[in-house]
Amino acid sequence: MSGKIIVFANQKGGVGKTTSAVNIGAYMALAGKRVLLVDFDPQGNLSSGVGANEDEAGIYEVISGDVDMKDAIQSTEIDNLFVVTSDINLSGANIELAGKKNREFFLKNCIETQKKNYDYILLDCPPSVGLLTINGLVAADRVIVPLQCEYYALEGLTMLIRTIKGIQHALNPDLDLGGIIFTMYDSRTRLSNDVVREATAYFQDKVFQSLIPRNIRLSEAPSHGQPVALYDPACIGAKSYQKLAEEVMERVS
Ligand code: ATP
Ligand code: MG
Repeated sequence: MSGKIIVFANQKGGVGKTTSAVNIGAYMALAGKRVLLVDFDPQGNLSSGVGANEDEAGIYEVISGDVDMKDAIQSTEIDNLFVVTSDINLSGANIELAGKKNREFFLKNCIETQKKNYDYILLDCPPSVGLLTINGLVAADRVIVPLQCEYYALEGLTMLIRTIKGIQHALNPDLDLGGIIFTMYDSRTRLSNDVVREATAYFQDKVFQSLIPRNIRLSEAPSHGQPVALYDPACIGAKSYQKLAEEVMERVS
């Protein structure tokens, strides 16, 4: 097994990075793949979203060299779905890493040891293009960008694409754009349709066909520490993420 590493990135906050990582990961695991979720955001939303024990050692302790990556991996309620947690301590890593040699490669070096044990390793990034997100982009084979179907969705995208190109050029020539996800889509609004049309004109076949609608069940599930696949598998948000996970697996295999 040589797992594909997929990073979810967008410096804009609240666009659906974590929701997408959790739910795509859950459906991959339910489809029989071995999946490792790595929370690389000091907010720790991915960790709580799968009900992980946040008192145990997480990615910060691994990056710091205090704990082995394999010892930080926790199982979840879904067979085949595993997680490495994060917490507020990780925000210190931004500063601690800044002065170090190879500061962009810390996450890659930790994850590399696990590649052989998983089909997919999914990384969740914070809403910035700081050192944490750069570590995510350096570690990954593919970057998936969630876009919220709202005003300003496309603003800042130029900078993100420029950052991705810069990483490809200088630090990770293997990085590819895996695709664009439209989140919180509302077919009734012109705005949603405008965002989809404009981004599709630009990104063409890079956009995923399965649009993720705005769906209250998706936003409730994390407070129960569950992916939507467990919380309410029949809801429209669940069905959409299931289809999207299939597309991602087809594209990234
Ligand atoms: P951050 O940049 O802070 O890490 P993010 O990009 O990871 O945010 P999420 O945390 O996934 O974004 O989503 C932001 C909020 O919107 C959360 O409260 C989440 O539950 C909610 N949400 C995400 N996707 C949907 C959706 N399709 N329908 C309704 N609510 C959603
Ligand atoms: Mg998040």
